Amino acid sequence: MSPAALVDRFGRQITYLRVSVTDRCNLRCLYCMPEEGVALQPHEAILRYEEIARLVSVAARLGVSKVRITGGEPLVRPGVVELVRRLASIPGISDLAMTTNGVLLAQNARDLAEAGLQRVNVSLDTLRPDRFARLARRDHLAQVLAGLDAAEQAGLTPVKVNMVVIRGLNDDEVVSFARLTLARGWHVRYIEVMPLGEGEHWSEGGFVSALEIKERVEEQLGPLAALPHRSGSPARDWRLPGATGTLGFITPVTEHFCGECNRLRLTADGRLISCLLRGGEVDVRQALRDNADDEVLQNILRDSVSLKPSGHHLEECRPTVSRGMSGIGG
Ligand code: SAM
Ligand code: SF4
Repeated sequence: MSPAALVDRFGRQITYLRVSVTDRCNLRCLYCMPEEGVALQPHEAILRYEEIARLVSVAARLGVSKVRITGGEPLVRPGVVELVRRLASIPGISDLAMTTNGVLLAQNARDLAEAGLQRVNVSLDTLRPDRFARLARRDHLAQVLAGLDAAEQAGLTPVKVNMVVIRGLNDDEVVSFARLTLARGWHVRYIEVMPLGEGEHWSEGGFVSALEIKERVEEQLGPLAALPHRSGSPARDWRLPGATGTLGFITPVTEHFCGECNRLRLTADGRLISCLLRGGEVDVRQALRDNADDEVLQNILRDSVSLKPSGHHLEECRPTVSRGMSGIGG
């Protein structure tokens, strides 16, 4: 490990930065945002692309090699392809990905890939149009499916599909999603719903554990074979017999992966967050706007990393961050 590396109090090296580029979204997923949307930050509060790129280049010199662009919905921010181009050209950034709801992916996939984006994770919670319209409060399933096809054609692969599973809402589709790994070779990942943002509504009766999902899939489709664990990945990966794609379980509630956590988050309004669920925010926007030198920015990154808690213990307590998922970027 280089002496310049970003290492927290518990010896974890931070190599992964999740960058939220907007708090706006073109969907209103029941568990994430209220119908009327969230109070939006004024434009001037949001980091400009050159400010994001500056911070990423400083972080890259401290060993950050992976960046994921997220939101809100990243594809609603104009010019995001240009941000991708800037970030892809930063020395040391070897893995550049995006998490999107896929609604605007069909028209952007080729440009994103050409600009240097390597992969996309598409959030999709149902394959039924009527249910999509209820769950996301917008009738856009066809656009998302077209976006997935376009991502595959553009080489933004492996395409990952992230499904938040909620009892009584979409848990009867876990087997249909598993079949996508046979038919399409996609990587499907089931996510346990977290009590964040609008999540409070779903956290009790709606919660479905990864263990239960796995049992339900195996009951219908046969035993899953375990794949080797990739260090730093929050998902445990499995494969159905004969499948080209994989199945993953992201278990923030029942089996947290904090011991291996290598990530730091940058919010759209320029705050660094070292843990999705606990710990404070550190302002980096002011320093970026004051044209602070690299050393000042490095120290701010180190300050944020020093606040990283050992874990979040979500099964025992409520999160202490005040932003919802759309404000942090997932
Ligand atoms: N709009 C983009 C999207 O939906 O992919 C990016 C931002 S969204 C906040 C990132 C991820 O967080 C999505 O996969 C979403 O399903 C997930 N998410 C939002 N609220 C959640 C919750 N309460 N529990 C678990 N996952 C949640
Ligand atoms: Fe928008 Fe993503 Fe939240 Fe859904 S999960 S409301 S797509 S930010």
